[in-house]
Amino acid sequence: MSSIGSSPSPPPLDGEVRFDERARATAAEDFGHLVRHTPEGVVLPASDEDVAAAVRRAAERGRSLAAQGQRHSVFGRAQVRDGIVADMGRLRTVHAVEPDRVVVDAGATLREVLAATLPRGLAPPGLPDYLDLSVGGVLVVGGVGSAISRSGVLTDNVLELRVVTGRGERLTCSPTSDPRLFDAVRAGLGQVAVITRATLRLVPAPRQVRRFLLYYPDLATMLGDQRLLAAERRFEGVQGAALPAPTGGWMFRLDLVKDLSGDPPDETALLAGLSDDRARAEPSTLPYLDYLDRLAALERLLRSEGWWPFPHPWLTTFVGDAAVEAVAAGELARLTPADLGPLGQMVVSAIIRESVRTPLLRLPTDPLCFTFNLIRLPATDDAAEARRLVTANRAVYERVRDAGGSLYPVSAFPMTPADWRAHFGTAFDGLAEAKREHDPGHVLTPGYEVFQPPI
Ligand SMILES: Cc1cc2nc3c(=O)[nH]c(=O)nc-3n(C[C@H](O)[C@H](O)[C@H](O)COP(=O)(O)OP(=O)(O)OC[C@H]3O[C@@H](n4cnc5c(N)ncnc54)[C@H](O)[C@@H]3O)c2cc1C
Repeated sequence: MSSIGSSPSPPPLDGEVRFDERARATAAEDFGHLVRHTPEGVVLPASDEDVAAAVRRAAERGRSLAAQGQRHSVFGRAQVRDGIVADMGRLRTVHAVEPDRVVVDAGATLREVLAATLPRGLAPPGLPDYLDLSVGGVLVVGGVGSAISRSGVLTDNVLELRVVTGRGERLTCSPTSDPRLFDAVRAGLGQVAVITRATLRLVPAPRQVRRFLLYYPDLATMLGDQRLLAAERRFEGVQGAALPAPTGGWMFRLDLVKDLSGDPPDETALLAGLSDDRARAEPSTLPYLDYLDRLAALERLLRSEGWWPFPHPWLTTFVGDAAVEAVAAGELARLTPADLGPLGQMVVSAIIRESVRTPLLRLPTDPLCFTFNLIRLPATDDAAEARRLVTANRAVYERVRDAGGSLYPVSAFPMTPADWRAHFGTAFDGLAEAKREHDPGHVLTPGYEVFQPPI
């Protein structure tokens, strides 16, 4: 048992509090390596009572508090200067797995959730494309993955949340019990509550999938095939990308996946009418988990090159169908190889808009939208180069926004409270009301500058 702060009667905790340099330095880092704010101390809660005690204590002392999951943010969003970090790493139990739901502590990773559910032939729908993220960290932003047009985002597939508000109150919310709080927490950038436990929907998981990598001569043809596939909903997963070609210029690729649950699919029919360079197509059959974990190969490669710890000035947005070709072509014309790095990519993947139902996840109004992401993986840790790319991100974001697009808030560039207000649009008032009700002292998550200037 330890205590927080230096007052004579600090609240007792089941977990631990650390003030040592190492713990504080770790809490000042994230995957972006672009922002570093050192907290006063790090709490490792072992229960939601601990989280509540830490929030109340931070509020009493006029400090901010930010929860940290896996620290995969790219712009200090889980950091807090001189305040308290609540490292959720000890709250990672995967509780009951039932046929239609799983109850998990928010610090559990998606990999840990799948380890409990896949042996029973079940998986949460709406998974992101990377598994080493915490459930809480993903629910705070949304959770965008290749099956988004089929299943929505992870926040669309939550049945119930247990949270600790900025007042230090422990509450439970769901679509039927305190729905306003539920809607302010899902994709709410941690502004009103810390998530301690989530009940996620489960659906039957295929044991294997059939995957097709298809290559295209140009952007327009690749986008055209995504429109056709979205209209016919032939595949469970669709991802498009422009990648630096080994010979210079760009190559365009679709990554399509079909569940193998019943009879084998008719591949001729699946691929009929597509305009890819069929001689280059790469079909494969793989276990479902290997498909979900497909970014692990990129991570291994980046680690082996020594590039994994380098800065990651990522930009993630959404663009409507009407603007996507002009926006993507315009940015491709501006990008240099160094802007993305040899292993980086521009992701341009179709989303059937009606599949996404989380109010705070802001999408353009077009019935068909696209993710538009610059996954920058520089092969250098040069700080000036990283700053250049952060500045470039802001300019790209403004072009995307001016073309009717919107932000997916895991991007590396500064925003102002006015930017966020415009970003949330008609949903802002509901979030602001929830902030007034549940975090009136502005204790939580200062790394997102929604209600206060940058920390
Ligand atoms: C390699 C990589 C791949 C990625 N792939 C995808 C992808 O496919 N799809 C996608 O949608 N996103 C993806 N992301 C982005 C990722 O989903 C977000 O950055 C996410 O917020 C990170 O989760 P985390 O557990 O690392 O959270 P952290 O970085 O620790 O925290 C992120 C934010 O959530 C807050 N937070 C964390 N836990 C809680 C909690 N329990 N309660 C309240 N607030 C909390 C933090 O304070 C912070 O503001 C990827 C990121 C990386 C680095």
